[in-house]
Amino acid sequence: MPQTNTDRLAIVLGDQLNVDSALFDGFDAEADVVWMAEVPVESTHVWTHKARIALFLSAMRHFRDLLRKDGLAVDYRQLDDEGVRPTLGEELAATIGRLKPQRVAMVHAGEWRVQREIESAVEAAGFELEVLPDRHFLSTPEEFAAHAKGRKQLRLEFFYRELRRKHGVLLEDGEPTGGKWNYDAANRGTFGKSGPGELPEPLAFSPDKTTREVFRLVESEFPEHPGSLDHFDWPTTPEEAERALDDFIEHRLPSFGQYQDALWTDEPFLYHSLISSSLNLKLLDPREVIRRAEEAYHSGAAPLESVEGFIRQILGWREYVRGIYWLHMPEYLERNTLGANRPLPEFYWTGDTEMNCLRQAIGQTLEHGYAHHIQRLMVTGLFALLVGVDPRAVHEWYLAVYVDAVEWVELPNTLGMSQYADDGVMASKPYCASGNYIHRMSNYCGGCKFDPKKAVGDDACPFTTLYWDFLARNERRLRGNNRMTMQLKNLERKDADELAAIREQAEALREELKDVR
Ligand code: FAD
Ligand code: SF4
Repeated sequence: MPQTNTDRLAIVLGDQLNVDSALFDGFDAEADVVWMAEVPVESTHVWTHKARIALFLSAMRHFRDLLRKDGLAVDYRQLDDEGVRPTLGEELAATIGRLKPQRVAMVHAGEWRVQREIESAVEAAGFELEVLPDRHFLSTPEEFAAHAKGRKQLRLEFFYRELRRKHGVLLEDGEPTGGKWNYDAANRGTFGKSGPGELPEPLAFSPDKTTREVFRLVESEFPEHPGSLDHFDWPTTPEEAERALDDFIEHRLPSFGQYQDALWTDEPFLYHSLISSSLNLKLLDPREVIRRAEEAYHSGAAPLESVEGFIRQILGWREYVRGIYWLHMPEYLERNTLGANRPLPEFYWTGDTEMNCLRQAIGQTLEHGYAHHIQRLMVTGLFALLVGVDPRAVHEWYLAVYVDAVEWVELPNTLGMSQYADDGVMASKPYCASGNYIHRMSNYCGGCKFDPKKAVGDDACPFTTLYWDFLARNERRLRGNNRMTMQLKNLERKDADELAAIREQAEALREELKDVR
């Protein structure tokens, strides 16, 4: 290897914008170079929402500027630079050829595909890649694999308790604060007929010069991509992310627990934190988020059911799904337990549907690149499950349209939790429900031409029609699952003629939804 001035080429990916990462331990500003690149394929391998592209590029550029201000050399390739290569692997190979470093290092990527691509490029250039652990998380894939070993059935609750103990979170003398590990039962409130009343407006971050430049680039390079930049106000720097967290802790955390599962027309954010994109880009440290929430409980600013409910999402679900991802990739991506093979309905890309709940959830997704958990799971996810959409197509949609979408977190939530395509690794039963669930949790049905109680007829709710059809279609497979007993008993009670009419209407609906982009 020829002697050059660059000692270590330190790879920073678009979701690794963290100065505390292991990559910067012992960083030699005289001899080491940071490498970052914006390449087209990262925005096109799924048909990515404009706001998601803009957020990644803007946050990367802000991070580059921060490192340079701190005196670090950053070799940065912009999407609008001349001759930019399509993929990360190709750009990296070219940079290695040009800078001829002594060593190449990275923190482990968040996506299996990207990790393999970097490894291949570095290996082809004749180097051994130094891969460092991702210290952002509170658990490691190895720890999760050890937890999973020998267990027939994985459940969030047990891993979550292990992490509470390990990190001393919401514990008093080794016991859970308040005497219970989990306040899930207190997290299912609805707004009732009167609605949520006046909601606290989340802090908005108006686009600065860097972000506006990125907007122009996105509009010129990806004009046909879904979504809009008109409402973009996401944090793009650690300072902004910190302020977004402050705003949530003060104004929305106290009611977060009670209304975590509720839905309401034209209210996209309710009491949610809106910090997932900042966490996933690593602008925010989850330890700090957990510490702040715990502090709010101890100071009396927020009740335990809110604080525990919130911490369960970050310390529980977020770590748990990452464990599942790395335990099962790459074969996880291919799973399709229910043999679902329908195309994704066209209206997922436009919001153009008469079903009000879907119009609301998809409409705000296209506007903001955001929908909260129950919208993702029990509106868009549920509908795809009931129709029998190919889980790969559902996955590609979720990975494309949310600003917080990164595969390690998106895939287990989509393919596992929402589509039950992993045969129960993520969820002990399919999250299947009729329109009555949406009716109970929201006011969507009041503004809809369909009736959630009806399964047949012109005004039958498609969710309700497809729900009974889903149970009937998958009855044999679901029989062995004792958590499905009640739902299957209700199916048995259906009159044969009524069921035949439902199934006929469901088939007609599924046929109607066949046209795709
Ligand atoms: P809040 O409701 O305020 O929750 C707080 C935080 O907890 C979130 O910011 C997030 O970091 C974490 N969290 C909550 N639920 C989960 C979960 N199920 N898995 C992992 N972390 C969780 N989350 C993503 O970050 N990226 C994704 O691409 C993503 N795709 C999803 C796809 C589907 C089909 C479903 C059902 C869920 C998905 N989630 C994803 C999880 C969850 O919906 C989002 O994290 C959440 O809606 C983000 O909004 P928020 O920051 O306001 O979260
Ligand atoms: Fe959605 Fe059915 Fe309610 Fe309409 S009636 S909003 S389609 S659940």
